[in-house]
Amino acid sequence: MMGGESGDAVRKSMELLVALGDVFGAERLVPVESAHISGVSYANLGDAGTEWLEEQAEMGARCMVRATLNPAGMDMDRWREMNVPQEFAEGQRRVIGAFTRMGVEPTCTCTPYLIGHVPRRGAQIAWAESNAICYSNSVLGARTNRESGPTTLASAVTGLTPLYGFRLEENRAPGKVVKVEASLRTRLDYSALGYVTGKLVGSGVPYFRGLGRPDLESMKTLGAACATSGGVALWHGEGVTPEAGWASQHLAGVERVTVERSDLEEARARLSCDFPAAFMLIASMNPCPCGFHNHPDKECTCAPGMVQRYLHRISGPLLDRIDIHIEVVPVDYEKLACTAPAESSSTVRSRVVKAREIQTSRFAGNDGIYCNAQMSSALIRRHCHLDDTGGRLLRAAMEMRGLSARAYDRILKVSRTIADLDGSEAIGPDHLSEAINYRNLDREGWAG
Ligand SMILES: [Zn+2]
Repeated sequence: MMGGESGDAVRKSMELLVALGDVFGAERLVPVESAHISGVSYANLGDAGTEWLEEQAEMGARCMVRATLNPAGMDMDRWREMNVPQEFAEGQRRVIGAFTRMGVEPTCTCTPYLIGHVPRRGAQIAWAESNAICYSNSVLGARTNRESGPTTLASAVTGLTPLYGFRLEENRAPGKVVKVEASLRTRLDYSALGYVTGKLVGSGVPYFRGLGRPDLESMKTLGAACATSGGVALWHGEGVTPEAGWASQHLAGVERVTVERSDLEEARARLSCDFPAAFMLIASMNPCPCGFHNHPDKECTCAPGMVQRYLHRISGPLLDRIDIHIEVVPVDYEKLACTAPAESSSTVRSRVVKAREIQTSRFAGNDGIYCNAQMSSALIRRHCHLDDTGGRLLRAAMEMRGLSARAYDRILKVSRTIADLDGSEAIGPDHLSEAINYRNLDREGWAG
């Protein structure tokens, strides 16, 4: 292969693998059975990396073993909805195209073992991506080092890898016994254990005692956390992982550490934060993937059912919790260019300040409540009285639009604020109907 009889691409890949082997003192190359390739994002590759990949494909590089691909720099199907620039999308497509021409499956996943790419125990494989490396070494008992994008691709097209590191049995022996003296109840517990262990062993090989019966997801979480907080690429779990029996024969003289519930709690506390927060959420979305649904003069080109599916990604319960939602249509040129004097920001500001003063005095006796948005149901009942007309109006709107109880409360709160802005003590029918109109995404069939 080094002589170039299999083509330039293979020769170059061989040179890379031999150089890697020299660095790590490998005596020879061994066949690999599978590859999982990283370095797929156009954001990291740039034009130079992309051209290099295209050159490899052009020179005839073809995978000799099954090879899957790590995630790309964008969602390959929905990039348009996510406002990925066209130029980036083109670059990313070229990257995926080059890999596909080389015979790599464009799986775009960092967990290939969950979609059927599952190497057998003892197999030499060339995998990149820290969680996938940790999982295949530990849970599947396959053998890989922490590979990089270029070396995994080189192994895929040559079917070879230098023999060193975790590919040799002697390097798979435990470096530390981690005794878990806490019952592991949730995946979060396994994640916390992984975090603690990574800090304890660095890039060593931990041998766990007392892991319980972790399911697949917990093992994935444990490994991913170890790989992140330390640099763990292989772990053994007594009674859990395939090589643990063999590993248990190599525990003489190995250092022991104990992890207790308090260690897990501490890690969890460090990993999660509770911030008391007062915030205002403002969000926007397109009406449909093409962007022209309900446009006054352009036609929506989305396939039937697509608009509905797109809108349903904002679930009803989530929409319910947003106080105000409005569908906006494009402003035409005449309005934009209109020279009629508009209300100045300082006038609006003084109106808002006045409304906030009203609310401050309204909630003077209620600890921690400063504005209408914070009202509980009891406070809403006290401060948002409707007269008969208002009551009828709201009932009719609720029935016609099929609004929820949560929407009902929010309409009252918003109408209270509109009345405050108007300097009105009572909530009038016009305040109320304005608030009802601010829930126009609840409108039945808005998606047509
Ligand atoms: Zn559309």
